[in-house]
Amino acid sequence: MKGKYEPDRYVMLGNHVDAWVNGAVDATSGTTVMMEIARALGEKHKTGWRPRRSIMLCGWDGEESGLIGSVEHVEEYYSQLKDKAIAYINIDSAVAVFL
Ligand SMILES: [Zn+2]
Repeated sequence: MKGKYEPDRYVMLGNHVDAWVNGAVDATSGTTVMMEIARALGEKHKTGWRPRRSIMLCGWDGEESGLIGSVEHVEEYYSQLKDKAIAYINIDSAVAVFL
């Protein structure tokens, strides 16, 4: 979602789509939160609201096998990201299970 005042400043939220096993906590709980954030941003956008800075919701493949998806993304877009990305929030585990 493009920012209204600082479109060339990126706030990135990311999560991976793969998991070691069933992935209920890591990464499905994070995916659920990301989807709710996307839904809420979409609702706000319908009212004409736009964020101050651009918001990027990122879904990575191959995280558990060596951060492949996110590393490939950074390698490809490094020249833009080094100047424009101001935050990356990793949302792969939004809940925790204590046994
Ligand atoms: Zn994870």
